[in-house]
Amino acid sequence: MKLIILMIIFSQTVFSKNQVLEESIIVKSSYSKKIKKLQTKHNFIVDHVHKNFFEVYGKKGTLKLLKKNGFKAGFQKIRKSLISYPSFDDNTKKLKKLARKYPNITKLFSIGKSVEGRDLWVMKISDNPNKDEFEPEFKYISSMHGDEIVGRELLILFIEDLLSMYQKKNKKVVQLVNNTEIFIMPSMNPDGSEVPKRANANGVDLNRNFPDFTTNDDDNTPDGREPETQAIMKWQKERHFSFSANFHGGAVVVNYPWDTKSQRHPMDKFVVKFSKYYASFNQPMRDNPEFPEGIINGSDWYEVDGGMQDWSYHWHNDLQVTIELSNTKYPDYSTISKFYKDNRKSLFNYIKIIHSGAGFKLNSNSKNGKVEVVQTKPMKRNLGSFNFHGGEFYKVLPIGKYTFNIKLSDGTTETRKLEVK
Ligand SMILES: [Zn+2]
Repeated sequence: MKLIILMIIFSQTVFSKNQVLEESIIVKSSYSKKIKKLQTKHNFIVDHVHKNFFEVYGKKGTLKLLKKNGFKAGFQKIRKSLISYPSFDDNTKKLKKLARKYPNITKLFSIGKSVEGRDLWVMKISDNPNKDEFEPEFKYISSMHGDEIVGRELLILFIEDLLSMYQKKNKKVVQLVNNTEIFIMPSMNPDGSEVPKRANANGVDLNRNFPDFTTNDDDNTPDGREPETQAIMKWQKERHFSFSANFHGGAVVVNYPWDTKSQRHPMDKFVVKFSKYYASFNQPMRDNPEFPEGIINGSDWYEVDGGMQDWSYHWHNDLQVTIELSNTKYPDYSTISKFYKDNRKSLFNYIKIIHSGAGFKLNSNSKNGKVEVVQTKPMKRNLGSFNFHGGEFYKVLPIGKYTFNIKLSDGTTETRKLEVK
């Protein structure tokens, strides 16, 4: 009997994180307690809250439910102008061409396949791209919501730009590329973008599909999740990412952790600072009247459970923000170059922040363990314990002095004093 009850609970949890989105709705009212209550009861997804409107995604009957409760709402319409956007195949060709043109600083690879079998392409940009050097590892991921397309195009333009600047021996670019392992994934949901729609081909919202440490889905296992989510989880486990961003559309703002709980991040001041830094180079973002200085705390905006941003720091010490690039998810393709111009400096300068940090490499690369990071100056505080693998650990940190208490899985311990200048 007990087993049966457990199984029912388990299957409900799985169902919830893999909930199929059947309706895309725009609600024309402000986000209120009333809608939060309805959301908890009926388990639909809220996204992109603006002053007088927001989006809702849910199963069949959600629009009816909202209207019954007095909300002015209707289905979202997708504009036809998207026809002029490149297809998945066009972008694949482009990435392959760039990898061929710059073989000394690129490595193009796929971390897995989407539901419909499309490759999840990643471009690595670094000197000695085929070697795993002891350099901080950075990543950009875009368009896990298939209809939020601007980021996909911007990241491809950014790859092209970075590679050509490197070839032209631009000093800042050469320095960054030679000392960083940069990974760029323009499209995490290629099936969704082909339609276009938010969810993947199974109808699941990938940004609600990651383990959530505040709910009962707190086991960091890829089992039972969507193929795209699984691919990211496996990839992240193999690497040592310490700083990243993921791109969306539907607003213009940097959304910083946490999304899933209202408590502040352990390094809140620092997180706010670099979020502002991204926005500061992007005039429409910085001066956006909706979001002062172009930033907002995720949970202050609206709660997201099962998002990639919180998962990546909580489980993998990979500090991540969610960057919303455009109010219109599918703006006219001719405006992409303007979006690129607005984000170009931000995209470059944001990567540089990864060099504010400290780490270690042990003499044996088979060593795994845990490291407790304690800040000693300018203030004393414990920043938590983090797993590491492959004998390597690196953490993005604000300026200060730190003690790393390393505990290896064989029980031996080691202490290192490090400084971030
Ligand atoms: Zn999104």
